[in-house]
Amino acid sequence: MSRALSVSAQGMNPKREAAKSGPAFCPESRNLLDAFGETVQELLLLHEQQFQAIVGGDPDSDRFDLLIHMANEKKNQAKYVYLRHLETHGCSTGYGTEQS
Ligand SMILES: [Zn+2]
Repeated sequence: MSRALSVSAQGMNPKREAAKSGPAFCPESRNLLDAFGETVQELLLLHEQQFQAIVGGDPDSDRFDLLIHMANEKKNQAKYVYLRHLETHGCSTGYGTEQS
């Protein structure tokens, strides 16, 4: 008589880690997302200021075109860095990359 069956299950140890804040939370990607968000804010602010300048009859409102252009470049750069980090690091903040 053999009773091998009941003994063999002992070798398995279940490894479980408590997931505190998501499976792949990465503070760096969070930082990059924040930086990206800031450039978007900056861009919105410039558009707002340009609008005010035009409405207020500011003859110098053209200068915003350049500022907006530069802010746009910055935004694209920040977005690129963020997305690239997600790609290379394989992490995510869980925010999603498209918020508009
Ligand atoms: Zn990461």
